[in-house]
Order: sequence, then C-alpha cells, then structure tokens
Amino acid sequence: MTGKMQAAVVEEFGKPLVIREWDIPTPGPGQILIKIEACGVCHTDLHAAHGDWPLKPTLPFIPGHEGIGIVVALGEGVTSVKDGERVGVPWLYSACGHCEYCLSAWETVCASAQFGGYTQNGGFAEYIIADPNYVAHIPAGLDPREAAPIICAGVTTYKGIKEASVRPGQWIAISGVGGLGHLAVQYAKAMGLRVCAVDINDDKLAHATKLGADAVVNAREGDPVAAVKEATDGGAHGVLITAPSLAAFKQGVGMTRKHGTCVLVGLPPGEFPLDLFGVVANCITVRGSFVGTRQDMAEALAFAAEGKVKADIELQPLSAINDIFKRLEHGDVPSRVVIDFSKREG
Ligand code: NAD
Ligand code: ZN
Ligand code: ZN
Repeated sequence: MTGKMQAAVVEEFGKPLVIREWDIPTPGPGQILIKIEACGVCHTDLHAAHGDWPLKPTLPFIPGHEGIGIVVALGEGVTSVKDGERVGVPWLYSACGHCEYCLSAWETVCASAQFGGYTQNGGFAEYIIADPNYVAHIPAGLDPREAAPIICAGVTTYKGIKEASVRPGQWIAISGVGGLGHLAVQYAKAMGLRVCAVDINDDKLAHATKLGADAVVNAREGDPVAAVKEATDGGAHGVLITAPSLAAFKQGVGMTRKHGTCVLVGLPPGEFPLDLFGVVANCITVRGSFVGTRQDMAEALAFAAEGKVKADIELQPLSAINDIFKRLEHGDVPSRVVIDFSKREG
C-alpha cells in the first residue's frame, strides 16, 4: 500500500501537535501494517509531547500507544498474525526476545525494548507499523474503541495491582482516578479487594464510588494520609499511585499499611522525598511498575471481554487532539478520550 495518511505529529516539544499528511509506511520483513480504528489518549502522550522524561523521543514523531486496528498487510515471513485480524499496538512495541529479562517474562524492562508512540511512531495516525510478536490480540466481541484504553491504562493498572501483593478482602488505595485509575478501581473490585479511591477532583471521586470504590478521599482537603488510614483501619495493604503529580507520591507511601506495598505508576517528571525511617521501621515496600507483559495484556483484555471491566470513553476525531491534550493537562477529562478514526473531522 502506498499513499498518504493523516497523522498528529509532535514537531517541537511543548508545542501543539501538527495534523498533517504523512507517508503510509510499508511493512518490512517481520513487520505488519495496521489500519487504525481507534486510539486512546494517555497522559503519557502528554509527557512525550512535552519532552518531560530523561530519554526523549526523536523529533518529529507520532504519539499514541493505545491504537487498535485491523491488519491490512504482512511483511515477508510473518506467520503469527493474519490479514484481517484485530490487534493493538501498545507501549511495549517490541523487545529483543533473548535477554535475561525477556527470557524470564520481564520483557517490559528489556534494554532493547522499543516504545509505541515514543521511540516508534504511534497510533495518532490512520496506519501504523507493528511487530507482530508484541501486538495485543483483541478478543472477539470487544469493541475496538473500548479495547483501546485497556492496552495501556488497563494492563498497567492490572499489573500494578498484582505487584501490590494484596489478597481478596484487603484494602488497596488508588491515588488518581483518571484514565488509569478508573480502570484500576474496576480491576481491584473484580479481584475482590476493598478500594479507597484518592483524587483531587470530587467528580472523579463520585465516579469512583459509582464504579464500586468503598471509600473516597479528596487529597486537596485536610490530611489525605490520615483520612486514608482512618478509612482503611490503619493504612491500605497496597497503594497504587497513578496520579501525575509528585505530591501524590509522598502521600501514597504514607497511606501504606505496615508491611504493605506502595506501587509507583504515575510518571510526573522529578523526584520525591521518602520518609526513610518510616519506610524502614514499618517494613514498607516501594516498587515501580511499568505497563505489563504480553501475558498481563491477554489477562487484562480477558477481564474486559468478559464485561468485568469497562473503559469509560469519550469519542473524538483526530483533529481535536490539541484540545484533548489541554483538557488532560488540566484534569478536565472525565476518564479516557479515544480518537475514533471512523469519525470524520469536525
Ligand atoms: P489522567 O490525567 O487521565 O489521570 C490522572 C488523575 O490523577 C486525574 O483524575 C487527576 O485529577 C488525578 N490527580 C492529579 N493530582 C493528584 C493528586 N495530587 N492526588 C491524587 N490524584 C491526583 O492520567 P492517566 O492517563 O491516568 O496517567 C496517569 C500517569 O500514569 C501519567 O503520569 C502517565 O504518564 C502514567 N503512566 C504510567 C504507566 C506505567 O507503565 N508506569 C503507564 C501509563 C501511564
Ligand atoms: Zn499509556
Ligand atoms: Zn530483551
């Protein structure tokens, strides 16, 4: 396939994306070409476009790592996916397949990993090239627009909750109930956990309650650490921090029960102070968690296919991308915006 496609492109960090024509890429040996149906907009795309992190993408690039679409062309030698199959191109775009981490099913930390919409062009475009060994396989019956948030927000929080080492009946505090957090609440409930949702926005907390949260705490009011400790009778056994705000990190460690685990997932640029004595004397584990493996992906999608987890989506055309970014930056997106490529401009 040759020709042009529409794409939203980061040409300069911190500047609005440029919607423009881009050559439809041709799949090389071992690659596939996908026609995008839908792509979620993650807060990570905002960090990428701002150049927030130490490892920066090379300009210009196309963000988007929640792209779902149909395989329309196979490069030479591809046998693991078929023409017409529905797949997703996640943040974990590819990995080496043979290092210590790949061999132990920790491909997410492979030193040669490529990242979708970051080191490789992403899903804010009508077509995308992918590595068939790392695409997400979308279960039949799951709408592509509803599948989109699952392949980043879903898998990341599903894995993060597993990394919190909590058992059914125990408390998990979820700090930040936006795109990631609203799915985290649902995964946690499906896993039989008690959920305390923390955010700075009362509408998001009301939404968390609707999704099954057992307690909610507004971090802007009073002492949120004390409030979570009270709601959870001594601190949450597990804490999952998805908030893109450094203030939430120190608080999240404080909300952790003795001998509990605080999982860091949000990625605001910078560092946060750790109460060393508190962490040591209370035997607290502080652990980073980065998206999920391909097996985590299959499990996270299965929850969605079975209807146990459902992304709350707002559909927008690609042309709205800069407005979506502005709203995301100001916390004005209720849950997740998904770019719907069947929507014409307007
Ligand atoms: P989002 O903007 O949709 O949601 C963030 C939520 O955090 C909002 O509801 C906001 O009101 C809330 N919030 C802001 N400040 C807060 C505070 N001080 N305390 C509590 N809540 C607060 O963003 P998202 O798409 O859910 O992404 C969240 C973060 O997770 C980003 O930093 C993103 O880069 C990161 N992320 C990490 C991974 C990973 O693998 N570790 C994967 C995806 C996203
Ligand atoms: Zn993401
Ligand atoms: Zn590897």
